[in-house]
Amino acid sequence: MRLVTGKAIAPGLANGRAVVLLDSLPAGTSLAPVDRGAEVLRLKRIFQSARADLETLQSRVHQEFGATEAEIFAAHQLILEDPTLLEDIIQRLNSHSVRAEDAIAASVDDYAARMSKAQDPYLRERELDIRDIGNRLIRHALGHPSSRFSALEDNSIIVGEELLPSDLVELDSAKLAGVVTQRCGETSHVAILARALGIPALTGITDISGMLSSGQRLLLDGYTGELVIEPYHSQLNKFEQKRHRFDEYRIAQKSNDHLPCQTKDGVEILLLANLARPNEAELGAASSMAAIGLLRTEFLFLDHSEPPTIDEQVNLYTQVARRMPGRDICIRTLDLGGDKFPLFLRHSPEANPNLGVRGLRFSLGAGLSMFRTQVEALLRVSADHRVSILLPMVLGVDDLLAAKEIIVQIAGDLCLEVPPVGVLVETPAAVLLIDEILDHADFVNLGTNDLTQFVLASDRNALDTQDDYSVLHPAVLRAVQAVCNAANARNKPVTVCGEAAGNPEIAALLVGLGIRRLSMSPSLSVPVKSVLRSHALEALELLARQAIEARSTSRVKEIVTEAGIGKSYPEF
Ligand code: PEP
Ligand code: MG
Repeated sequence: MRLVTGKAIAPGLANGRAVVLLDSLPAGTSLAPVDRGAEVLRLKRIFQSARADLETLQSRVHQEFGATEAEIFAAHQLILEDPTLLEDIIQRLNSHSVRAEDAIAASVDDYAARMSKAQDPYLRERELDIRDIGNRLIRHALGHPSSRFSALEDNSIIVGEELLPSDLVELDSAKLAGVVTQRCGETSHVAILARALGIPALTGITDISGMLSSGQRLLLDGYTGELVIEPYHSQLNKFEQKRHRFDEYRIAQKSNDHLPCQTKDGVEILLLANLARPNEAELGAASSMAAIGLLRTEFLFLDHSEPPTIDEQVNLYTQVARRMPGRDICIRTLDLGGDKFPLFLRHSPEANPNLGVRGLRFSLGAGLSMFRTQVEALLRVSADHRVSILLPMVLGVDDLLAAKEIIVQIAGDLCLEVPPVGVLVETPAAVLLIDEILDHADFVNLGTNDLTQFVLASDRNALDTQDDYSVLHPAVLRAVQAVCNAANARNKPVTVCGEAAGNPEIAALLVGLGIRRLSMSPSLSVPVKSVLRSHALEALELLARQAIEARSTSRVKEIVTEAGIGKSYPEF
C-alpha cells in the first residue's frame, strides 16, 4: 500500500486498475547491415498501414463525435504525408543499422524534444502530435496497430504524464473510471473535459508513470486529491462503502433536479451551461440547464487544416441552439492566441504568449477575416435563435467599440438586428474600466480563470505557481465584487463562467458577493445546487464580507470551512 496526494481537478471516486501510458517509445535490437533494404521497404509499409488506420479512425470519430474532432486526425495525416519525417527515419535506419521501430523512436524523440523546447506555442503543441504519431507508427511496426486504449477494460484509471491530443476522443469513456496525470492545470482543457464527462481526475503527482505499473489497483479520490496504490483489503472495503454512500447521495440529489436552484431563503440563482466541444453527451447534459452561459468556439479552429467556413459554423451553432429551444445561448468569439493556435496559422514566437497576441487583440488584428466570418455566422444564427455574442480578452472601451462596429456593420449588410453583445471580463484592465465598459456592453461574463492568473501574476496551467493561483485570493474576490456591483447597479446581467462557478464552496461565496448567474460544466450543477439550497443568503453575504476583508487565500479558505460551507457533501 502507498498513499500519495495530488491535486483534485475533477470530482468523484474511482476504484480501478491502472493503465499506465508509456511516454517513452520502446527500444529494440540492431540489424545486420544486409537487412537495410528490406527494412526500408518494411518502414514504408508501416507508414502505409498507419495512414490507412488514421483514415478509418477519422471516419469513426467523424460519425461518433463530429467533424471537429475528426480534424485532429486529418492533421496527423498531413504530418505522416510530409516526406521529411519518413526521410529522417530512413536516414537513421541506414546510418545506424537499426530496426524500423528503433529508427522511428529515435527520430520521433528527437523531433519531439526539439519541439518541446520551442518558444513558439504552436510548435510546442505539435510535440504532442508528433509523439502521438510516433506511438501509432511503432504500434504498427510491432504488429499491434490498435490504439493504446483498445485494451481498456472496465474501470480503468489512465495514468500518464499528460494526455495526448487523440487520447480524449480515442478512449472509451464508458470504461474509464479516472485520470491521473503529472502535469495539468485545474483550468486546463483536459480538466475541463474530465469534469464535463463526470470522470474523477488528479494531477500534480511527480513521476507518476514511474511509480505505478499497469494493472495495479488504485483508489482515486477526486475530492481530497488522495491516491491509494495497492490498498489493503480494509481500505478497499471502506472506500467502496464511501463510494456507495456517495452514489446514493448523488442519486438522491439528482432526484432534486426538478427543485429550483435557490438559496435556503428562496433567492433564485440561475445555473447555466459551459460548453467546450459540443457533442451529443455535452448537449444532452446542457439541455437541462437554464441557458448556455458560455459556448467556447476555439474547438472549431484548433486542429483544423483550414479555418471553418460560414456554413460550417452556422450548422454547428444551429445544432446547439436547437437543443436549447427558447433559451439564451451565449457564444464567445474565437479566443485564439496565447497557447491556442490552430494548425493553419503560423505566427512568430512570442516572449510571453499568455500576454501576447490573443483574444480580441488577435481578432481585431491578424485574425480579422476569421473574426468577420464568425460574426457573420453568429448573426445568421441569431436571426432564428436567442444568440448573444461574447467578446474575450477585452481591455476597455476602444477594443470593445472596434469589435461592436464590425458587428453592427455586418448586421447592417445582412439586414439583421444586432443581438446582445457582452464582454468577458478577464483582464485587470476590464475590471478597472468596468463602468465605461458597461456603457456599451449589454451584459458581462466574469472569466475567473484568466482574471485570477492576471490579477495574481500566476500562470493558470503551471504546477509550480498553482499554490498562488486561487480565485479565493481576496484581491480576486474584490475584483469580482467590483464588477458584480457595477453590473447590478445598471441592471445588466453578470455571469461567472470561469471554473470557480462549478465549485460548490466558491459558488456559494460568489452568491454572497452578489452573483446570481453561474455558468459551469453541466456535470457540476448538482452539488452546486445542493450547497446553495442549504444556505440562506444572509449567511453567504456575511461569509463574503469576511472573505473580502481577509488577508490571504488561506484565511479565506479557513473562513469558508469555519462557516460549514466547505462541506459540499455530508460526511460519509
Ligand atoms: C476564463 O478565463 O475564465 C474563461 C471562461 O475562459 P477560458 O477558460 O476559455 O480562457
Ligand atoms: Mg479566458
